[in-house]
Amino acid sequence: MLIYPDFYCNNVRDVKLEFLRENNIKGIILDVDNTLIDYYRNFENGTVEWVNDLKNAGIKFCIVSNSNKLDKVEYVAEVLDIPFFHFAKKPFKSGFLKAQKLMGLEAKNIAAIGDQLMTDVIGSNRCNMFSILVKPIAEKDIFITKIKRPIENKIMERYFRKIKKEKV
Ligand SMILES: [Mg+2]
Repeated sequence: MLIYPDFYCNNVRDVKLEFLRENNIKGIILDVDNTLIDYYRNFENGTVEWVNDLKNAGIKFCIVSNSNKLDKVEYVAEVLDIPFFHFAKKPFKSGFLKAQKLMGLEAKNIAAIGDQLMTDVIGSNRCNMFSILVKPIAEKDIFITKIKRPIENKIMERYFRKIKKEKV
């Protein structure tokens, strides 16, 4: 299903090197808002180290953000020292494909991590990348996200019921 993530976890730091290797992931596309930083542009503890450790293990990174706030996305990219594309219009493919080209990897070897089904997960699935949904850092979302959240929660409830059934 286009709307379901391939993997779901609490935060980016739960995406471990071992897991990436098991799934043949060599590059990671990161969302910014509520995936890496909160509304006040704060990183959660350990996020910068998580990126650095994976970088040292050879994992490539690129930010693909829908935000049109260049200074914010640039700030996050600078802190993490990774390239970025902003105003990406996810779930359209273009931002993901630009990042893919930059990383020089095949889609199947790329994981895209984000906190939203409608943009991050659908966009990543459309590009045949490995989609990872994380819990949003903060609930204080920008207005448009607020409208989408209840719908996303409904879909996720259905998703969890589905995996539960499959596991039985
Ligand atoms: Mg986000």
